[in-house]
Amino acid sequence: MNAPNKSGWKPAMNAEGEMMAVSATYTGNRALMLDEPLIFEIGGTDTTGVDLPDIDTPASSRLGNLARTAEIGLPGLSEPETVRHYTRLSRQNYAIDLGLFPLGSCTMKHNPRLNEKVARMPGFADVHPLAPLPTIQGALGVIYELAEWLKTLTGMPAVAMSPKAGAHGELCGILAIRAALEARGDARKVVLCPESAHGTNPATAAFAGYEVEDIPATPEGRVDLAALTARLRPDVAAVMITNPNTCGLFERDFRKIADAVHAAGAFVYCDGANFNAIVGRVRPGDLGVDAMHINLHKTFSTPHGGGGPGSGPVVFSQALAPFAPLPFVERTEDGFMLVEEENLADHHRHSFGRMTAFHGQMGMFTRALTYMLSHGADGLKQVSEDAVLNANYILRSLEDVLHAPFADSGPCMHEALFGDRGFAEGMSTLDLAKGMIDEGFHPMTMYFPLVVHGAMLVEPTETESKAALDQFIGALRSVAKRAIAGDESLKSAPHFAPRRRLDETLAARKPVLAWNSPPQA
Ligand SMILES: *Cc1c(COP(=O)(O)O)cnc(C)c1O
Repeated sequence: MNAPNKSGWKPAMNAEGEMMAVSATYTGNRALMLDEPLIFEIGGTDTTGVDLPDIDTPASSRLGNLARTAEIGLPGLSEPETVRHYTRLSRQNYAIDLGLFPLGSCTMKHNPRLNEKVARMPGFADVHPLAPLPTIQGALGVIYELAEWLKTLTGMPAVAMSPKAGAHGELCGILAIRAALEARGDARKVVLCPESAHGTNPATAAFAGYEVEDIPATPEGRVDLAALTARLRPDVAAVMITNPNTCGLFERDFRKIADAVHAAGAFVYCDGANFNAIVGRVRPGDLGVDAMHINLHKTFSTPHGGGGPGSGPVVFSQALAPFAPLPFVERTEDGFMLVEEENLADHHRHSFGRMTAFHGQMGMFTRALTYMLSHGADGLKQVSEDAVLNANYILRSLEDVLHAPFADSGPCMHEALFGDRGFAEGMSTLDLAKGMIDEGFHPMTMYFPLVVHGAMLVEPTETESKAALDQFIGALRSVAKRAIAGDESLKSAPHFAPRRRLDETLAARKPVLAWNSPPQA
């Protein structure tokens, strides 16, 4: 027998067994409040969802000693039961297709359905990385064409397409820098990372074996140029700068920084994950960048989240281009070819090696190129302008209730940054974030960047309408006022979610990742 379905939401109760009051006026969607058990708890392992005929021949006679002797232990559910289970679970997820996704530094933007249509075309979806080159000329053509777009948009002469995400691209760039330094017999030890850099920057440098040194931020949230130039000694291999930075600001001194770094014989790595704020307006090549990754899965749509998929091509300056990883696609008289170790010497390169087994993320390439071709160069410029406009609309609409630490540093780029100053004693950014779940929104990025106390980083993206922005602003304004007023019900939020507040420390330190059957009686 199947266990009874345990679906059904239970409201938060106080010690007296009364439903907890929630004082705000709700402005957003309601979260879906299904409590779905594990599939093992719904379907017993002793039942089956399908009727199979009895077999005449015992399995062992055909399978020999490969026949399974123990129970497989899978729950026996019918097709509708299975479909309903996963559909219910999917409804507990918040998704960009359900509503605005304000995560700053993540660029969760709408993925046009045209991208999906093209990515599913058999000629792209069904190619195998080991297919003979003459049979995959179209796929190589996509990679080549996309690479040309990326070089043009960034003003950089070379690009490595194979890195599979932003952080992977950072590693690729740092490895190319190391190869270039070693090639001139000048191995250096230190990578400088400003405080306004993304956390992956120092992590990448450390992973590649460099000592990481912090460069402070100015009170207006930008790299301290004087502190940086003072630190440029001959042991510095590179400076890694996120631009626009994690405070949502454009690094106005970038050109001066790059000149100083080059004068000291070091390289400039730019974290370009936030490129969506400046596409069509600024070419990183003009700013003196030597290597920069581009998050196709942020800047050029393509869905991401939950660990993948991603794609992080890295553009290179002339100085680093010879060290770019293999393979890369080149155009020949009769089509496209892959440059690999065997034919590398003919191309006058000294590649540092490779980042992946094959050419990169084909599914992301087709989506990104579709996005570029459907928008055109002018369309892409408008995308970034609208993203910046939307973020500034949020910043200016909320700065009267939420502390906006860099509101005087000029317009923000694609994301608006707030802090927790002004909240009632005992109220935190976490409480506000949980309150946003009750409003039907995914919370914004919190406690990042570290330079702002109780930071909240909001990135609406260009794909939200004014009506959607106003609804989000209304919800955030209402929850912020509760945090300022010290509304106790916020401390126990979320009230309208499948789960109450989780013990995050326990979840991080002792995650229970597998289901074990209860001990037999
Ligand atoms: C997202 C992001 C990264 C990391 O990219 P992944 O694809 O998640 O590895 C690095 N830097 C910045 C500024 C980012 O926003």
